[in-house]
Amino acid sequence: MRPVYLDNNATTRVDPEVVQAMLPFFTEQFGNASSMHAFGAAVGDAMRTARKQVQELIGAEFDHEIIFTSGGTESDNSAILSALETQVGRDEIITTMVEHPGILSLCDHLAKTRGITVHKIGVDSMGRLDIEAYRKALGPKTAIVSMMWANNETGTLFPVDLLAELAHEAGALFHTDAVQAVGKIAIDIKSTEIDMLSLSGHKLHAPKGIGALYVRKGVRFRPMIRGGHQERGRRAGTENVPAVIGLGKASELALKHMADEQTRVKALRDRLEKGLLQQVGNSFVTGDPTNRLPNTCNIAFEYIEGEAILLLLNKAGIAASSGSACTSGSLEPSHVLRAMKVPYTAAHGAIRFSFCRDNGEADVDQVLEAVPAIIAKLRELSPFWQGADKAPAVFNPTFA
Ligand code: PLP
Repeated sequence: MRPVYLDNNATTRVDPEVVQAMLPFFTEQFGNASSMHAFGAAVGDAMRTARKQVQELIGAEFDHEIIFTSGGTESDNSAILSALETQVGRDEIITTMVEHPGILSLCDHLAKTRGITVHKIGVDSMGRLDIEAYRKALGPKTAIVSMMWANNETGTLFPVDLLAELAHEAGALFHTDAVQAVGKIAIDIKSTEIDMLSLSGHKLHAPKGIGALYVRKGVRFRPMIRGGHQERGRRAGTENVPAVIGLGKASELALKHMADEQTRVKALRDRLEKGLLQQVGNSFVTGDPTNRLPNTCNIAFEYIEGEAILLLLNKAGIAASSGSACTSGSLEPSHVLRAMKVPYTAAHGAIRFSFCRDNGEADVDQVLEAVPAIIAKLRELSPFWQGADKAPAVFNPTFA
């Protein structure tokens, strides 16, 4: 049986070209970038190239706006904690109900331990932000707004340009968790008002444990990790040089493959989605059909458990996910689908298929071959299914 990997929003395979680019930095180019000798200088040069490559991927104006971190979670935490220090007299955070735990669990912690007021803005049934509620929450106490660019579960995109402008009108900083967006859609950060942006290497074919925080020139920043003067004093600790070089190379490759993501990868996703909706009754797509990442498909199969579907998919060689990887293991439906008010009978059976440039038509064929039988088998066993097959899908029926 051929393995089919459709869980690229959880993590991606490191591109072989990225591995090749990294290898010398484990062996002959082992210097410390801060050292005043040739070993250090060579590494410093390579890191400058990597910083430029990340800069180009997100359209930043200056390379020093890029701070290398250990990944998306660290970047998210650093952005929020910095804003609470620099925005004197402001102690409120605005975020959304559908953020990654990298934001939500920090906000909950800050509310509990520091008395910070956190506004979590809701979404509609397609995962679109309630902009009116956001406008009302903004005020003179707002230190920072943190809203994701693309949702990791449904792929729904938020209008971050507009959201950043609104934050600035209230004197607040605007951060976006763009971990799922970077590398999948074209980003030109300099043409927006976004102050800070998080990205993560392992979502774009670089290794795990490396990421970056973009901080716009002129935005005051306080480091979360203090120590040496690496990263211009904004993130202390000797840099993970091979991973930095890998992130740079992966950024260059992501730019090169961007058109493929928008066309071929999107076409694969669309064919899978259409095929599944046609073949499996009582199923529907969650998320905003007209404003989504090109690689993500989240389908809710009513009256069955996502975990059971995943187990049988796994047996058929297919890797997908139910909810975000961090929450799987819990039987609660995902907080994202709950915020969208997807009925429990459907949210439990939601499966995310997420593509990347490594996928091809044969992967879609294999899933289309396996899934209808898996769903039919599980529904036969489901006490909730009996009689429900006569009813139409109860949610989001306009999208087919
Ligand atoms: N933000 C989003 C939207 C994510 O999807 C993830 C990872 O799943 C993260 C943040 C965390 O990134 P990292 O794994 O690099 O810490």
